[in-house]
Amino acid sequence: MRCVNEVPAQDAIVARMAQVLVSACLLGRECRYDGRACRDPELERELARRGEVALPFCPEEEGGLGTPRPPAWIEADGAAAVLGGGDRVVNAEGADVSAAFRRGAEGALAACRAHAITRAYLKERSPSCGVCRTHVAGGLVAGPGVTAELLRRNGVEVRGVE
Ligand code: SF4
Repeated sequence: MRCVNEVPAQDAIVARMAQVLVSACLLGRECRYDGRACRDPELERELARRGEVALPFCPEEEGGLGTPRPPAWIEADGAAAVLGGGDRVVNAEGADVSAAFRRGAEGALAACRAHAITRAYLKERSPSCGVCRTHVAGGLVAGPGVTAELLRRNGVEVRGVE
């Protein structure tokens, strides 16, 4: 019989809570292209309320891009085309950073698989993390970023955070 004063070990509690992937900049990491964060205390409260434990992840840093870095956007057709090799991500200096964006997306998927993560909260409007809106051809359009698209097509639920 379990004693009423017995409390589960902290590791056991965490193991029972669902881990979720979260854009690191939303949790206060200064990993945005401009070297800033965009911490969202409301998201942190929502995660706590839901009993979800955040795994912070920045696909662009994971892909090898430094911080700060020039802003970047999908060139023409969207994230699915970038993943398939039919479109590029270019930055404000004209460099092709597609490979770094694809590496970052694959890193995010690998992190989800390693931690049995099935949900991600991602920063809207990013060419990596955007879920409903991202930058294509220098403007904001409907559609996902490269990481959001790869996670979504592999069964991870992606939720956009403005
Ligand atoms: Fe934030 Fe994602 Fe951009 Fe990294 S790639 S700074 S996590 S929006």
